[in-house]
Amino acid sequence: MKFKDIPIRQKLTGIILLTCSVVLVLMCSAYIIFEYINFKKTIKGNLETLGVIIASNSSAALAFDSPGDATEILSALSANKHIIAAGLFDSKGQLFAKYPAKLPDSQLPSKPEANGYNFKNANLEGFQPVIQQNLHLGTLYLKSDLEEMYIQMSITAFITLLLIAGTLFIAYLLSNYLRKTISKPILVLKRTAEVISKENDFSVRAVKSGNDEIGSLTDAFNQMLNQIERQSLEIRIANEINSKLAAIVESSADAIIGNSLNLIITSWNNSAERIFGYSAHEMMGQSVTKIIPPNMRDMIFEGFEQLKSDQQVEPFETQLITREGKLLDISLTISPVKNSNGEIVGISQIARDISVQKHNERLIIENEEHLRLATQAAELGTFDYDLVRNILIWDKRCRELFGIYHDEPISYSDSFLNGLHEDDRERIAKTIETAFNKSVNGGHYDVEYRTVSNDKKLRWIRAKGKVFFNEEDKPIRFIGTVLDITNKKHEEIRKNDFIAIISHELKTPLTTIKSYVQILLARAKKSGDEFTVNALTRTDTQANKMTSMIKDFLHLARMEEGKIQMKEQVFLLQPLLEDIVSEARLLTSSHVIELKGCSDVKIKADQDKIGQVLINLISNAIKYSLSADIITVGCERIEDKIKIYVKDQGVGISENDQKNLFTRFYRVENEKVKTVSGFGIGLYIVSEILKYHNSQIMLDSVEGKGSTFYFSMDVVKE
Ligand code: ADP
Repeated sequence: MKFKDIPIRQKLTGIILLTCSVVLVLMCSAYIIFEYINFKKTIKGNLETLGVIIASNSSAALAFDSPGDATEILSALSANKHIIAAGLFDSKGQLFAKYPAKLPDSQLPSKPEANGYNFKNANLEGFQPVIQQNLHLGTLYLKSDLEEMYIQMSITAFITLLLIAGTLFIAYLLSNYLRKTISKPILVLKRTAEVISKENDFSVRAVKSGNDEIGSLTDAFNQMLNQIERQSLEIRIANEINSKLAAIVESSADAIIGNSLNLIITSWNNSAERIFGYSAHEMMGQSVTKIIPPNMRDMIFEGFEQLKSDQQVEPFETQLITREGKLLDISLTISPVKNSNGEIVGISQIARDISVQKHNERLIIENEEHLRLATQAAELGTFDYDLVRNILIWDKRCRELFGIYHDEPISYSDSFLNGLHEDDRERIAKTIETAFNKSVNGGHYDVEYRTVSNDKKLRWIRAKGKVFFNEEDKPIRFIGTVLDITNKKHEEIRKNDFIAIISHELKTPLTTIKSYVQILLARAKKSGDEFTVNALTRTDTQANKMTSMIKDFLHLARMEEGKIQMKEQVFLLQPLLEDIVSEARLLTSSHVIELKGCSDVKIKADQDKIGQVLINLISNAIKYSLSADIITVGCERIEDKIKIYVKDQGVGISENDQKNLFTRFYRVENEKVKTVSGFGIGLYIVSEILKYHNSQIMLDSVEGKGSTFYFSMDVVKE
């Protein structure tokens, strides 16, 4: 393993130990060298001293020329086992004595040399003059081995090595302890970095352990993490925004197209593919002019130019062309694409396909024109009442019908209510109030009224309309048409007058006929003339039918003129039902009329008119159930209301006919009822009378199975 790859802890230990070793080795080497030099000096000094002593002791032996003494003196050198040779030369340079005595002469120098000691061939040897009273008597030669020095040096080296080893061991222990102060914060940094890279969590921070360089490094590291965390957050947000934007662009219903300033397409979303029929692959790198028809280029390029000069461009309508060459109506929103320096580098276009909308707009305009022509042709006036803003708009024709010939704003109370005939004002105001209540009849409005203009001109108007409601069922708009029916109305009035006169005129002779028939019937019964009784009974029945018809006509005429008068009173329902059922039984010999009464129920109504309603319903039940014979008249109490019904098992009425049944002169036309005579006014009168009583005629009917006509009245409590 390379040194740079060794873990920092070992590296630190290694460095410390290496440093220590080098220092120790250097120190010890210096010490050993010093010791060596010192030792050599000492040995040399010692040999010199020994030489001086031996030389001085030998002077006498030389002076008296006594080699035996000299040899004895030299033999004292044996006390020093390191002296390996010694020789004493006389003044003439001849060997005089030697040590050891048996030493061959060849082992000694042949003659004395210069004074002084020198290290030679791993020995120390030298010459010392023997002088007495300035007289040179001879020369002493001494030769010592260096074993002592070597032993001493070995001991020194051994101790030094021991010292180095002990010192290194202590250095190792110390370094082990001290390196932590350096390696620990570095390892903390390392672990922090590992956690971050493993978990991608940039919120982790390294713990600072001091204010040294590693502390500064930890601060710098944490600061870097702060930056990275902020940047990664920014990058994440930017990525999220980008992916959201990309999703929006891809899922947008509008075509979103990007192009460079030289009109080269740089982006093309799914909707662009769908709307224009070109794939992104085909269009990227192409010129955007491919989808701009020549006649629209000036308009669109002008918008681009405005963007380039930093002007805002409002969305505008234009046309673009598809792959198939189809021109599409487009609402185009263009905006600049800027780089990070804020320079415009491209243009983004959002193209909304408004072909359908445009087509519908054209249809609406056409329809409005048709409607305008149709209303004009039909001489219809129109009104439009915005109930939220309280703005009433009348067209020219509507204004004419109220005698208004200016274009100034008009109001509901001043122009409309005041423009009505005073006899109609209250009724119409009430009807409109009712139409504004969605639950009553769903905002349906169909009335006739009179207007009186400033010049006192009276007009009859038929107004039809519809009220529109919001989610809370509050009326917000009231729209409809008005039609001048003055002429028709006058005709009707004349007709009604005529009917009224005829009916009235018919009533008197019929009453006379009925009285005579009654007298004759009584007589015939008395005389037992069965045939006459039978004939007169039938005559009476027919006369009753005629009376009923005449009553209907009179009612109709009165109602049309609005002359119907209500004589309301509280009465018991049961006796009225009984009377009516008895009267009806006289009208038929073929049907059984059952009465399921309701005792003790009182209602407040015009008794005669409710009787008329019942008679009409029962006579219809008889007329339209020739093959069935049971008719049930009855009532049913439902909380505070009493439901009164007439039920038959006759031909029944189809759903389609049920809708129109209560309009004037409406008669069902089919095979089953074509032989039944009638004018189609009975049910109309029934429904009108019930309206006057704030009630309504209702019907349950199944074709071929029978019908039940019913209405409800408030029960009067005691
Ligand atoms: P009319 O009986 O004089 O024709 P009405 O106004 O009384 O006029 O009735 C209108 C139409 O309703 C009738 O022509 C008839 O077809 C139908 N009709 C009324 N009552 C019944 C009934 N009980 N069963 C079947 N059809 C009925």
